[in-house]
Amino acid sequence: MQVKIIGAGLAGCEAALWLADRGVQVKLYEQKPAKYSPAHKSAGFAELICSNSLKAERPDSASGLLKIEMKMMGSHLLDAAETARVAAGGALAVDRDVFSTAVTEMVENHPNITVRREEVTALDESAPVLVASGPLTEGALAQAVAALTGDHRLSFYDAVAPIVTAESLDYDKVFAASRYGRGEADYLNCPFNKEEYEAFHAALIAAERAPLHDFDGDLTVYEGCMPIEVMAARGADTIRFGPLRPVG
Ligand SMILES: Cc1cc2nc3c(=O)[nH]c(=O)nc-3n(C[C@H](O)[C@H](O)[C@H](O)COP(=O)(O)OP(=O)(O)OC[C@H]3O[C@@H](n4cnc5c(N)ncnc54)[C@H](O)[C@@H]3O)c2cc1C
Repeated sequence: MQVKIIGAGLAGCEAALWLADRGVQVKLYEQKPAKYSPAHKSAGFAELICSNSLKAERPDSASGLLKIEMKMMGSHLLDAAETARVAAGGALAVDRDVFSTAVTEMVENHPNITVRREEVTALDESAPVLVASGPLTEGALAQAVAALTGDHRLSFYDAVAPIVTAESLDYDKVFAASRYGRGEADYLNCPFNKEEYEAFHAALIAAERAPLHDFDGDLTVYEGCMPIEVMAARGADTIRFGPLRPVG
């Protein structure tokens, strides 16, 4: 049996390896390096384009349970994540370059996977096709998918994580601790008193905003993963009870 997979991101690589292990002949199409989305930058497979965290490992969390289920199913990407693991308390976080290299090698060395480095622009349904081209699917392929699924499209909004250099921190004030009291002291914490917190909140709301990318579409944000300035605009308590836990 032959299966065509479009996209060598996390989903496409995991699917390709799983099928190939079971004797399916996989043709995996990847448009990089000939063409990059506005967010992808490296030619490697399974490129993590934002956070390097694959989230919590505790079995009583949804992401921890999912990892256990993936391990039981023989996930190769979790093997690669183990190889690339970096300290992150109770979460599984990876060095994104080591992770991508490990996945690329697994895929390229699998005897049942043929890699084609080319953009797919149409859906040929003469054989099973798995579309794993990710949230930034665009152009002819996006139109082909829309023709099959109808006009109700997903929207995308890029909430880029701000990066603060470690050298810029005042270690008389900043302290290391575990996150939510779990795991090692792998996270740096910046405590605020009430006045400082209120000044931070006011500065955040008044701050200059990054211009939107073309692919950001409208301003519909996903409630489970929102830009901090959008949350801040909902009131000072929103970030205090949300991502800046613990409350205080
Ligand atoms: C800017 C940005 C930030 C994000 N931040 C986070 C985050 O912090 N945490 C999180 O969990 N998720 C985040 N996401 C979502 C993230 O993309 C997914 O979690 C994950 O990458 C999805 O994996 P995927 O395999 O579906 O798609 P991708 O990782 O996007 O892989 C798709 C692959 O398909 C290829 N491709 C696309 N079109 C074609 C074509 N026509 N022909 C051939 N190849 C094609 C692409 O080059 C790419 O390699 C973010 C997404 C973006 C865009």
